[in-house]
Amino acid sequence: MAIEIAVGIDIGGTNTVLGVVDREGNVIEEGAIRTTDFPVVEDFVKALSGVINDLSGKGDYNLRGIGIGAPNGNFHKGTIELAPNLEWKGIIPLAGMVEKSMGIPVFLTNDANAAALGEMMFGGATGMKDFIVLTLGTGLGSGIVVNGEVIYGHTGFAGEYGHIIMFPGGRDCGCGRQGCLETYVSATGIVRTVQWLLGEMRDESRLREIHTRDLTSRIIADAATNNDPIALEAFDYTAEILAYAIVNAIVVTSPEAIFLFGGLSNAGSLLFDPVRKYVDEFIQPVFKGTTSILPSGIPENNAAVLGSAALAWKEYSK
Ligand SMILES: [Zn+2]
Repeated sequence: MAIEIAVGIDIGGTNTVLGVVDREGNVIEEGAIRTTDFPVVEDFVKALSGVINDLSGKGDYNLRGIGIGAPNGNFHKGTIELAPNLEWKGIIPLAGMVEKSMGIPVFLTNDANAAALGEMMFGGATGMKDFIVLTLGTGLGSGIVVNGEVIYGHTGFAGEYGHIIMFPGGRDCGCGRQGCLETYVSATGIVRTVQWLLGEMRDESRLREIHTRDLTSRIIADAATNNDPIALEAFDYTAEILAYAIVNAIVVTSPEAIFLFGGLSNAGSLLFDPVRKYVDEFIQPVFKGTTSILPSGIPENNAAVLGSAALAWKEYSK
């Protein structure tokens, strides 16, 4: 009997990754193309369709839908809009183009919303109706689920939690403003924090021996594990700001859980312990103890593909 499948696609600035995913969340075929090889989007759609046909023809499969996660993806319109890390400029109606090429339904959203759908269908949020996923990579992405639905807003862009302003007039952000959450709480944000602390603190630190352009959140986490005072202070500072952002989110949607995913969250207890402590300290009393701060239940290497496939399955099930 044919296996029902969805194809999940994650479009990144450098690579586009594809996976054939069954209803249980098993990734049964995988493929990839280099996004940068196709400066013309029509050529990209052609190549992408070729790989989808190739993968979905490898077994006795029944293709039900295609989900795409992309930077600046607009779920309502199926468009990628003004994505700074992609070569295709302006507004790209990608879902429609792929749908026309493949002849089956195609849905598109931004990568963090896809991550939230993956968490809900295949990860730690199974059975939850209200939760938030925060992705702590180069930037900070978010997928906000309320009453079982991802919040898209009337523009299709809701859930840009990385760009709430934590400090008016604070650090410069890629969005053109200042003081956004992601300039502090992300893999790059903690590097900026260490650069600042190296000037502020007099403590000895092995981080002083590393050229600033070579600093990574991983190196900082390793140093913190070895009790490096500047690295530990950087994690504490990051956790404190993240906790403020989390308690602000809690008063808006009262989620059952907040999942921290990717990049910085791989530091484990170095981040989770102080975040939980500060959330407990800052939270409005009525919400005390009502929201769990959890690591993602999705393996990071498959997360993007699983999330996009979850979007396809969710829409297909409607
Ligand atoms: Zn911003």
